[in-house]
Amino acid sequence: MQQTSQRTLAVLGATGSIGTQALDIVRRCPDRFRATCLTAQFSSEALFALAREFRPRVAALRAEPKVIPDDLRDIEWFFGPDATVRALLASGAQDALCAIVGIAGLDAVWAALDVCERVLLANKEALVTGGDLVTQKAAARNVPLLPVDSEHSAIFQCLQARQGNPVRRLILTASGGALRDWDRARIYHATVRDVLAHPTWNMGGKITVDCASMVNKGLEVIEAHHLFAMPADRIDVVIHPQSIVHSMVEFEDGAVLAQLGNPDMRGPIGYAMGWPERVPYGAKPLDFAALGHLDFAAPDPDRFPCLGMAVAALKEGGSAPVILNGANEAAVAAFLQEQIPFGRIPELIGRALDAVPRTDIRAIADVYDADRAAREVVRAAL
Ligand code: NDP
Ligand code: MG
Repeated sequence: MQQTSQRTLAVLGATGSIGTQALDIVRRCPDRFRATCLTAQFSSEALFALAREFRPRVAALRAEPKVIPDDLRDIEWFFGPDATVRALLASGAQDALCAIVGIAGLDAVWAALDVCERVLLANKEALVTGGDLVTQKAAARNVPLLPVDSEHSAIFQCLQARQGNPVRRLILTASGGALRDWDRARIYHATVRDVLAHPTWNMGGKITVDCASMVNKGLEVIEAHHLFAMPADRIDVVIHPQSIVHSMVEFEDGAVLAQLGNPDMRGPIGYAMGWPERVPYGAKPLDFAALGHLDFAAPDPDRFPCLGMAVAALKEGGSAPVILNGANEAAVAAFLQEQIPFGRIPELIGRALDAVPRTDIRAIADVYDADRAAREVVRAAL
């Protein structure tokens, strides 16, 4: 299978962990990909450096810098709160890699579904909150929503072998995060430093905190529900500390297909970028003899209550996942600013879920209303 033409890519959240790894693939495969739009929030120097290397047609920063360097003035620049979307629209890029963190990336996903041929989705919070609205729009416009999250990429890859057969169960693996083996009391007082020391993946701050609380796995159950139209009770989570098995699909005859690889996000990013072709980005081969064994265990709901809270929110539906997500984003921000101990994150999510009245989500405006209400509860509690 030979890709004949170069694809143009908008990298939304270009300075982040996912964005820079995607650009590394562009760097390694210049005949296959061209980054025509790069965006960031505040990191102007980092974006300037990327713009210098990749020469996009357009670029955006949420916060306007004092000056644009002379050698970057031929690029069309956008600034302000809606700069990402305006840049995306102006870029004409075929594909959008949505790698902004949090619900802040929802507008970009929504716009990408209007104008792009394919949406490469890292920004799981857009799907957790936008949920059915996002998947319905993707289906209506016939735009593939290609997962970048490693578990969902694994499932997507396993499903290529489905041949029309029904799926019995999706099994998401979880590293267990930095606090996997800690006791409850110690988890409560974990510091920012403790939490950011992820055992297997090197990621942005917010998702690393989410991994430590295991709310990330809950968000991923919701993400899997939307991506693969699978009910919550047919999505299981298993702890797998080595992060080698990226996730699995079980069929009705009991056969389980798994996707394996070293923990390197360029694998799932590249799979989405090149789909249906695989991109040889220089991955290290798996050395099974060196690995020796792979371990699996059940998650512990006492020490990590956020996973169960997220699954319950999915089962409840409506605005519940939006409230959970908004409260989590606000609580994680407070934790990273050392305003609250780590153990208050589940408490604040629970408080928002208790306090915010449920609504139907019929339009994106309903999502933002529920998000705002959840954040308000957290803010008041701080
Ligand atoms: P990072 O924090 O590393 O990067 C986020 C990027 O988005 C940065 O470029 C940042 O710009 C930009 N950004 C943040 N907020 C805004 C905003 N309000 N408006 C415009 N741009 C903004 O995050 P990650 O790369 O780790 O994660 C991105 C997404 O991918 C998340 O949803 C995460 O859950 C998901 N994901 C990440 C994985 C990983 O390995 N990192 C794995 C699986 C999923 P600036 O640098 O200027 O702040
Ligand atoms: Mg993941």
